[in-house]
Amino acid sequence: MYILEDFYAGLDEKIIYGAKCSKCEKVYFPPKIRCQECLEKIDELIELPHSGVLKNYLENPNSKRYKKNQKLFALVQIDKSDTPVIMRIFNTTPKKLKPGMKVKVVWANGKLTDSPHIVGFEPILLKKN
Ligand SMILES: [Zn+2]
Repeated sequence: MYILEDFYAGLDEKIIYGAKCSKCEKVYFPPKIRCQECLEKIDELIELPHSGVLKNYLENPNSKRYKKNQKLFALVQIDKSDTPVIMRIFNTTPKKLKPGMKVKVVWANGKLTDSPHIVGFEPILLKKN
């Protein structure tokens, strides 16, 4: 089984897979074919939720004020995975971002194909009362 093929096939169905090392149980998103901790070959995928935790965010250091169309990037760790990824974060401003807050995956269809892919994250808005 070639896990990266299955990973992309999963995305077509909006299923997010992480790769789990059978030896040290570290879960990688995006999947890796070899564990960076123990160098074991990885051949197991586990389904991950569409939510994660904001670890940190990066503002463009050259602009003093946040502009609405400015690209914001965040370091996010998808729940049940052990490796954070840097991706765009949407529908928010730096003031509203706090490390530790919950975010969810934003999907978009590809430009070349109709298959969905992950373009970034957005905050999960907790409804009051
Ligand atoms: Zn390992």
